[in-house]
Amino acid sequence: MTENIYDTIIIGGGPGGLSAGIYAKRAAMNTTLIEKGVPGGQIVNSDEVENYLGYEHIGGAELSMKFSQHAQAYDLDIISQEVSEIIPGANVHTVKLANGDVFKACSIIMAMGGNPRKLAIPGEDTNYGKGVSYCAVCDGFFFRNKTVMVIGGGDTAAEEALYLAKLAKKVYMAHRRDALRAGMILQQRIFSECKIDMLWNTIPTEIKAGAEGVNSIALQDTVSGDKRELAVDGAFIFIGFVPNNQLVPAGIKMTSDGYVVTDAKCETNIPGIFAIGDLMEKYARQIITAAADGCTAALAAAHYVEAKKASDECQLE
Ligand code: NAP
Repeated sequence: MTENIYDTIIIGGGPGGLSAGIYAKRAAMNTTLIEKGVPGGQIVNSDEVENYLGYEHIGGAELSMKFSQHAQAYDLDIISQEVSEIIPGANVHTVKLANGDVFKACSIIMAMGGNPRKLAIPGEDTNYGKGVSYCAVCDGFFFRNKTVMVIGGGDTAAEEALYLAKLAKKVYMAHRRDALRAGMILQQRIFSECKIDMLWNTIPTEIKAGAEGVNSIALQDTVSGDKRELAVDGAFIFIGFVPNNQLVPAGIKMTSDGYVVTDAKCETNIPGIFAIGDLMEKYARQIITAAADGCTAALAAAHYVEAKKASDECQLE
């Protein structure tokens, strides 16, 4: 057989995928990583990271660049293409790309991450880019000395509200309950930031816009049902995360909210197919846990591939 079978193919180039790449190369695996965008992952859009071990403060873009450079130091092969399908095989798995290329691998590490969850209210999609945003670091600059509303009560909403408070005249933070989900340090910072005005028990029901873009948000009190409207220039939505599970092959076990179920080795119920980072079901979705998942999956994949090769099973079918 002349066709190349990779020992492992990693799909996704965030912290989890790049960490898996480094560990796979260190385990001498014939490895390729496929990423449709720029390697580095979602943190490229984070203003500042303060909880990655070894860095008290580091910009998200800088940290993601360091991850990519670290992987490059191991000559990790990175293909800039979109994967269109993953087809599990008895011994060898197939990865099809949108450009028609087809690759085979003994093991696959799925590291596709996820995307921001949408409110699904009128005016959200139509005003995206005209005042509706899912990234304060990307778009906050356009709202200097303006009034914006952050929607959500988790760590992301809190971090982005604090970032926007550095630029905007006023930041409303609308949360559907009367207590934030965000960690205590972030909560303390939110409550001591005079530019941030909390709107408790509040959900947006419509984002309204004129010729200049977003100009107000219709709100509803989740307890009393009362309705009102607030004039704002921008809506920044941070209400969680939806895993990118579209490529996950049928037959792989997922939770009801779409996260891939794995064992302690990050292996799915299909042998040789692993899932890591924000795609897998787990307790803490952090950069450091994604990187750790990458390590676990790559070491487990190396062990799996070695056993397959020893029994001559990693052959083209
Ligand atoms: P999250 O923790 O799931 O929080 C989502 C927030 O949006 C919650 O407050 C939730 O309200 C609210 N929400 C959800 N659906 C809503 C809807 N339809 N309408 C209105 N509000 C809605 O998401 P996240 O903040 O993006 O964080 C994701 C993960 O990344 C978390 O594990 C988080 O700890 C982690 N993270 C960590 C850091 C850090 O440590 N520096 C930074 C960012 C993210 P309820 O509270 O009522 O459910």
